[in-house]
Amino acid sequence: MTNTGITNDTHADTHTDANATRTIAAYAALTAKSPLQKTTVERRTVGEHDIVIDVRFSGICHSDIHQVNEDWGTGIFPMVPGHEIAGVVSEVGPGVTKWKAGDRVGVGCFVDSCRTCDNCRAGQEQYCTGGATFTYNAIGRDGRPTYGGYAKEVVVDENYALRIPDNLPLDAAAPLLCAGITLYSPLTHWGAGPGKKVAIVGLGGLGHMGVKIAHALGADVTVLSQSLRKREDGVKLGADDYRATSDPATFTELAGRFDLVVNTVSADLDLSAYLGLLRTDGTLVQVGAPEKPVSVNAHALLLGRRSLAGSMIGGLRATQDMLDFCGEHGITAEIELIRADQINEAYERVLASDVRYRFVIDAATI
Ligand code: NAP
Ligand code: ZN
Repeated sequence: MTNTGITNDTHADTHTDANATRTIAAYAALTAKSPLQKTTVERRTVGEHDIVIDVRFSGICHSDIHQVNEDWGTGIFPMVPGHEIAGVVSEVGPGVTKWKAGDRVGVGCFVDSCRTCDNCRAGQEQYCTGGATFTYNAIGRDGRPTYGGYAKEVVVDENYALRIPDNLPLDAAAPLLCAGITLYSPLTHWGAGPGKKVAIVGLGGLGHMGVKIAHALGADVTVLSQSLRKREDGVKLGADDYRATSDPATFTELAGRFDLVVNTVSADLDLSAYLGLLRTDGTLVQVGAPEKPVSVNAHALLLGRRSLAGSMIGGLRATQDMLDFCGEHGITAEIELIRADQINEAYERVLASDVRYRFVIDAATI
């Protein structure tokens, strides 16, 4: 069954098929805020329309840390984070038509949805009104807790896996499944392209993908970072301009400049100051997910008919479009590949903004 060397325990004999599980090696937080440690979890066995993915690489998203720390509310423990999953299909259920063993696939932030609501039908499963089933820290439609990609294997419905283009290495492609789509979606929705001026706030995991994708779409890209420390990197990634938000002159010099500002920062920023950077009819899109409510000065909105919007990941169709776009343009993440026993150290470094620009776990070390 698995390549983990771990065999199913006696659970398998005492359950009906529908309840049968497979035991998977994984890294989990056993309780809120606790360090991640090696353990095993029970996943469902392959169902009619399921595929088993031999996880090769799993990105570390800041959202993983938010959820382990219960920044957004009560979590489900043990929690196996990871929603930037890249791997290879190892088994398919009898009803599977899209995939075969050996296919290179990815799984992002959700693994199921109601499939019938307006949003699901429009390919915006992330906004499923029946509630999308998130890849971890959720209860799946099979009634079991979902577990993410810090694991040897995942079992998912065939429709919720995406094809990773052959020319993209799986390790550096893994972060596309969350960081990539989270920026591609608002950039394309709000028309980033030739003649458009786009600012990306925060040069971390999401931000650096935003710079690469906005540049490839043909937009003029400015990075707004806390300091000029990473300026050289930003320019290499495709930025036309790079400014420090710690310098008040940035906000006067760039006032009214941008068509689109995408804020990837989860810290409490003065959004009114960033709204002031927009031209008439410009949009500030919030993708960073702070713990606390944000507030804005209404004058910063009405002066210039500016919009404040939010955006969450992207639907299956958009995620496949993004992967194909990245394949055509040779875009992947800048990664630091780590062993699974370095996850806790990586979390500390992400929290200290010391990431260049995504940590990716080598699943062979789990
Ligand atoms: P990350 O790698 O930690 O990057 C965040 C960046 O924000 C940092 O690199 C830093 O960039 C900047 N930053 C950090 N602390 C700051 C502070 N106190 N003041 C100003 N800037 C600060 O995180 P990520 O993985 O990109 O995720 C960013 C946020 O997006 C998280 O809240 C995450 O949960 C959320 N997220 C949302 C979605 C969605 O669908 N909307 C999807 C994934 C993640 P500089 O050093 O350049 O300033
Ligand atoms: Zn994420």
